[in-house]
Amino acid sequence: MKRILITGGAGFIGSHLSEKLLEQGNEVICLDNFFTGRKANIRHLLSNPEFEFIRHDITEPIFLEVDQIYNLACPASPIHYQYNPVKTVKTSVMGAINMLGLAKRIRVPILQASTSEIYGDPLVHPQTESYWGNVNCLGPRSCYDEGKRVAETLFYNYHQQNKVDIKIVRIFNTYGPRMLENDGRVVSNFIVQALRNENITVYGQGSQTRSFCFITDLLDALIKMMNSGDFHGPVNLGNPGEFTILELAEKVLKLTGSSSKIIFKPLPKDDPTQRQPDISLAKEKLGWKPVISLEEGLQYTIEYFRKTIKK
Ligand code: NAD
Ligand code: UDP
Repeated sequence: MKRILITGGAGFIGSHLSEKLLEQGNEVICLDNFFTGRKANIRHLLSNPEFEFIRHDITEPIFLEVDQIYNLACPASPIHYQYNPVKTVKTSVMGAINMLGLAKRIRVPILQASTSEIYGDPLVHPQTESYWGNVNCLGPRSCYDEGKRVAETLFYNYHQQNKVDIKIVRIFNTYGPRMLENDGRVVSNFIVQALRNENITVYGQGSQTRSFCFITDLLDALIKMMNSGDFHGPVNLGNPGEFTILELAEKVLKLTGSSSKIIFKPLPKDDPTQRQPDISLAKEKLGWKPVISLEEGLQYTIEYFRKTIKK
């Protein structure tokens, strides 16, 4: 049994990870400032004596004794990370410094939830870990992209300079139950719109591509990476199946049986045109590959939103 700290533990990925690590017999300390996380995501865990919640903002230091740290705290949807861009940079950069300082003091492994966004609007396709990316440092997405890039640099530097046992994962679009119905990410937007028979809002022509990974697949990879010994990453984690946004809209319409119409809205500035992970490294080093198809994952997510959204 390990005592495991999860920052951002009340968010979408963090709450699923808390649940899974508890199921595996660990103690979990979940830390969150509830910016995009919700009490509802962790309410069912509060009665578990091995689960502890701390309301805390990772831009401030904290002193704890744990065996592993997953650093997930950071808003992930463009609407939320662009709401207060300065705060987004502070969360990624100061948060990384505080959590790395903690990992250094107590000498434990620390995993950083980095992102495919560090590749920006990629000129290399599919993206391999060796690609340096194509990021605009002044655009609307830069608070997130550059914040996450500096966080990777800090992790690398703490490893080089202080021998901190770092684990960097670059997560590609992940979806599933507990996404916020109003957080603006494409999978939740389309499903909620379809279930309400509202227009499906495709940005641009819908020809931009994304690769969607179901949450349970990602959790397996995160835990494998944390326990991967001398392997420090960075490693891409995602589902290599690549779909245009229009294809996604059509799949959601079919699976929900909705009468919604697809409408086209302006493409947000700097929206990446293509994104697909090369996961050869994850296969080789972690023996991992996703097993849930987009249709299957969408069905689970649709079931969740059917039960939870206000019509
Ligand atoms: P989320 O918004 O649901 O979760 C983020 C959590 O962090 C929330 O609970 C939020 O309240 C908390 N948080 C934000 N700022 C904080 C701060 N300063 N101090 C403490 N807590 C804070 O998003 P998610 O999809 O669960 O993403 C989790 C992590 O994974 C993020 O770091 C994100 O960048 C990364 N990631 C996610 C995806 C994805 O597709 N879901 C893709 C790439 C990377
Ligand atoms: N998107 C869309 N309609 C929506 C929400 C998003 O067409 O209602 C598009 C968005 O422009 C982007 C893709 O879907 O091209 C994925 O968007 P999301 O915000 O989920 O993630 P990210 O752009 O960070 O990959």
